[in-house]
Amino acid sequence: MTRIRIDLDRCTKSGQCYYLVPGLVRRGEDNDPVPVAGPLDKEQLAEAESLVDSCPTGAIALVGEPR
Ligand code: SF4
Repeated sequence: MTRIRIDLDRCTKSGQCYYLVPGLVRRGEDNDPVPVAGPLDKEQLAEAESLVDSCPTGAIALVGEPR
């Protein structure tokens, strides 16, 4: 099962992820991005892969086994 992990030490809170893909990342306290908690389904996984590529600081990663 694959999940999204966001490294807040690298994140600059640009907001790009939660504005572009609000279904996978929401804006949390202090504008921190908060990824969905559960494992990703097939459709979410495709979106998450582009999310990883689009983060300007490389703060977003996918962790765990692919489905
Ligand atoms: S796109 Fe990257 S740098 Fe911007 S808020 Fe999301 S995780 Fe942080």
